Amino acid sequence: FELERLGVHESVDAVFPPEALADYLTDLPIDVAVVDDEGIEACDAVVTLEHRDAYLDCEWIHSIQAGVDRFPFDEFEANDVVLTNSTGIHDRSVGETVAGYLLLFARRLHDHVANQRERRWERPDWDAAFTLPGTTACVVGTGTLGRGVAETLGGLGVRVTGVRRSADPVPGFEEMFPTDRLHEAISDADFVIVTVPLTDETYHLFDADAFDAMRDDAYFVNVARGSVVDEPALIDALEDGRLEGAALDVFEAEPLPEESPLWDMDEVVISPHCAAYTRDYFRDTGDIVRENVDRLDTGEAFHNRVV
Ligand code: NDP
Repeated sequence: FELERLGVHESVDAVFPPEALADYLTDLPIDVAVVDDEGIEACDAVVTLEHRDAYLDCEWIHSIQAGVDRFPFDEFEANDVVLTNSTGIHDRSVGETVAGYLLLFARRLHDHVANQRERRWERPDWDAAFTLPGTTACVVGTGTLGRGVAETLGGLGVRVTGVRRSADPVPGFEEMFPTDRLHEAISDADFVIVTVPLTDETYHLFDADAFDAMRDDAYFVNVARGSVVDEPALIDALEDGRLEGAALDVFEAEPLPEESPLWDMDEVVISPHCAAYTRDYFRDTGDIVRENVDRLDTGEAFHNRVV
């Protein structure tokens, strides 16, 4: 198809100003404009965070997220709409966020922040703090996120193991397990870090049995999608002391409801689905869009095509 008009949907505003991306792409040989729902109709292609039914009349939709679980693949396919995503850009941002969570628990930094709020001078128990070298992190999902996590944690002396469907080796991971040996893979880890896409196979991959398989003194980290985890089972495990703590960026319901018990747990750190945020996000996404506009021109296959 001939691309004439590319819209930047206003829903991307949750991650960066839509105008920033539109400005970044002004040198493209096509019309680029920020659009609201009414403006979608006039576009051949749209860059977006959220799904809209009107996209089924477009030629190409680009998701500014790596996760595309919110888009109806079958309907895109039936309507000949190409869907591309933004995998490949979140390695360092999410890797550093996860390293931050681990350092926070190991060095008790979250306690200091909580104490400071109360003007309280209170040192941790003598045996609470530890250092990361010698600990093991099992990273479940060894794509862009998993590799970024492995590289960042590897630099901090953490031994990193991985879980993927095939168990084929991946640089940065000392040992690999196939998904059907998940419980064995996570049984010995100080930290279990989830970086898989949400699919039919990974829905509630972390259930009560998975939390039982983990060590009682282990920390659980989810930067993937909320529904990869059976959240009530996680809450039970934390309340019963069958897990030491958790760092959670994603939840089954977002925003996390005010009544969730997770908010009040001392060893739980909550971030509002922003593990990948960086002030360069619009440029990183823009580079993928630009690459695909070039490829459309030369007739090459789309980069990061999902449907
Ligand atoms: P990638 O496609 O690069 O990597 C996904 C990896 O998951 C692949 O290596 C794949 O390996 C593995 N995988 C898929 N299914 C399974 C399974 N059933 N069991 C074990 N491993 C599996 O994606 P990204 O790393 O870029 O992103 C991953 C997900 O993280 C996204 O889909 C999104 O939901 C989430 N995300 C969250 C962000 C946040 O802000 N919190 C930011 C960015 C992404 P193999 O094929 O070998 O199984």
